[in-house]
Parts: sequence; C-alpha cells; structure tokens
Amino acid sequence: MTFSVVIVAAGSGTRAGPGQAKQWRVLAGKPVLRWSVEAFLAAGAGEVVIVTTADGEAFLPRILEGLQGWRSTLGGATRALSVQAGLAALSERPGAEPVMIHDAARPFVSRNVILALLGALADADLALPALAVADTLKRQPTGEAAQTVSREHLWRAQTPQAARRDTLIAAYAAWTHGEPTDDAQVVEAAGGRIALTAGDPLLTKLTYPEDFAMAEHLAGVARVTRVGQGFDAHRWGPGEEVWLCGVAIKHDETLVGHSDADAGLHALTDAILGAIGEGDIGDHFPPTDPKWKGAASDQFLKHAVDLVTAKGGALVNVDVTLICERPKIKPHRQAMRERLAEILSIPVDRVSVKATTTEKMGFTGRGEGLAASAVVAVETPA
Ligand code: MG
Repeated sequence: MTFSVVIVAAGSGTRAGPGQAKQWRVLAGKPVLRWSVEAFLAAGAGEVVIVTTADGEAFLPRILEGLQGWRSTLGGATRALSVQAGLAALSERPGAEPVMIHDAARPFVSRNVILALLGALADADLALPALAVADTLKRQPTGEAAQTVSREHLWRAQTPQAARRDTLIAAYAAWTHGEPTDDAQVVEAAGGRIALTAGDPLLTKLTYPEDFAMAEHLAGVARVTRVGQGFDAHRWGPGEEVWLCGVAIKHDETLVGHSDADAGLHALTDAILGAIGEGDIGDHFPPTDPKWKGAASDQFLKHAVDLVTAKGGALVNVDVTLICERPKIKPHRQAMRERLAEILSIPVDRVSVKATTTEKMGFTGRGEGLAASAVVAVETPA
C-alpha cells in the first residue's frame, strides 16, 4: 500500500540542550531527522513532507543529501498548525491514501511499526503505536499525599500516527478545542475509531540531553569518554576590572588581550576543542580578525559546546584552575561556577573552579600575568 508522510520538525527543542535543535543533531552517526526519513523511504513512502522553520529549510539539503522523495514546507506556530501545513503541502494524491504523521524527535521508526499501522487502517480511522505502562503510577496533588493510580487499560502513545488523508484534513478542520496532544485526539474528537498497534521502545522521544545517550545505547551504539586539556595566560595591564570564567571582578588591574582576555574561558574552550580534536581557539577565532577585538569570550566557549553537540556528544564535567597571586578568587568562585554551568548548559555540580598561587615564583608569582588551566571530559559516540 502506498502512503505518504508528514514529519513535524518545527520545534526549537531547547530542552535537549545547547546548540542545534534536536532534530538536526547527530545521533549514532546520523542527524536525528535523517533516521526517520530514511526509514519511511525504505518502507515505501511515496512522498515525505518535512514541516520545519526557515532555518530548518536551509539545513535540509545537507542533512538529507542523496535522498530522493522528500520536500519541505514551513510550519505554523503550533504543532497542530504544522501538521495541517504538512497535509496541505502533500502533492495531489488520493484522499483515501494513508498519511503517517511523525515527530522528528523519534528517530528509530521500524518497518514493522509502519506495516502494522497500515494494516490496522483496514478497520480503524487512525492507528498509532502504543506501549503498555510498565511502571506503577502515582498521583500527587500539590500539598497532598501520593496515591496509587491503576495502570489498567493505560497506554503510552507514540508516533507515527496513520490515518487516511481526507480523515485527517476533515478532523483538523472540525477541531475547536485548542492545542491537541496528538493527531489521534483530533480524529477521536471527530468521532473516528482509534486503533493501537504494538509500540516500540526504540521509538522513544528525544527530549532531554541524556535521552541521546540512552537512544544510542538502545541502538547498540557505543560511546566513549574523551578528555581534553587547555592552558592560557594573559598579561596584567592598567584597568579597573577583570573578566575571569565569565564573571567581571573589580580589580586594580585588568588582563590584556585581543578579546576580553578571560583566560579561564580560553583555557576551557581549548580543553573542549582538545577533547574532540577540533584544533584550538585561535583556529576558530583568529586573533588577527578585528571581529574578535574586545569580544566576550563566552561565545568562544558556546561555539566549542556546539561542536560537541554536533558530533552527538555531551559534556560530562569541567575543572578549571586559575593561577594568580591576586585577585582573591574564592569570593567569586561560586558565581564563576554558576556562570560556567549556564554557558555550558550542564548542572553546576559538574563544574569546578579552583585557584592557586605559585608562592611568588614565576610570572604569575611576580604579578606579571595570570594563567589558567582546564580539564574536561566529553562523551561522544565511539
Ligand atoms: Mg587567551
């Protein structure tokens, strides 16, 4: 049976961590979106419409390079509007032909799931894969004790959800209850019969950063931990404040450099680049480029984190040591940890900032300059 597909990839997906939205990120060596597009095409989809943002449309040719049979259209402000935009963008096809509506954040669609959905449409208006609820469920209203809820007859709905094209268009046109939770709810409200097919644990939705690691484990993809090290130093000069680890500190001198001379952020940026074999900070932000004069160094660090994310990786922890006689670092240490955690989008307990002096020895001891060293651990697909 021929069928077409609408994949909704219009979300910004900020809960999945920094960097690109989750549908563009690499999972087990392939962008998240590409996994499901390939699966649908391999299962015989006649056409795949990807509903996305203007930025997304710019990414697609690269992410789906070499694949035929897909097109894209711009999404709306809500998922429901995006689904309707996708349905409208399907080329002229029979109204009775099945359409699968799918969320881009569920990359591992299997042929079995697709075939079961098509089969179930023989006597249903919409079919969706669903998993039985295995865990005992609790309900705890605010301020009250927890109560046990029966999990009998409860199922976890997944996507793709399949229905005939005319059924979906008519049901969405008739829907007046705000934002639906899925397509099945819309067809159900229009009086349609909903069928459940066997769900797949691999169809898990990628929502949080740790979901990527779990999905790769499920897919049998090994991950490795890589360590990176960075070092930086800047000279003291006349000034009234100094930037260290993203925090401005009142001081009777400042660090001199092409950017804001935040040696802590520079050492950390180099450590991250080192962990993923991406050269050093000067390769990415040449000091000869006037664009980086006086630049805030948090953008260098964010760029390094984005490179990790693009490789399907995640930061595990970071440890920065500042080496100077003055200023005293300890009163600012917690603010530095919190600022770094914010830039890196990791919990603060995975961020360490330490300080030491060199007992008046060497350039830091004589007060000529400040040095910083950093070590990071990064987890990436093997
Ligand atoms: Mg530097």
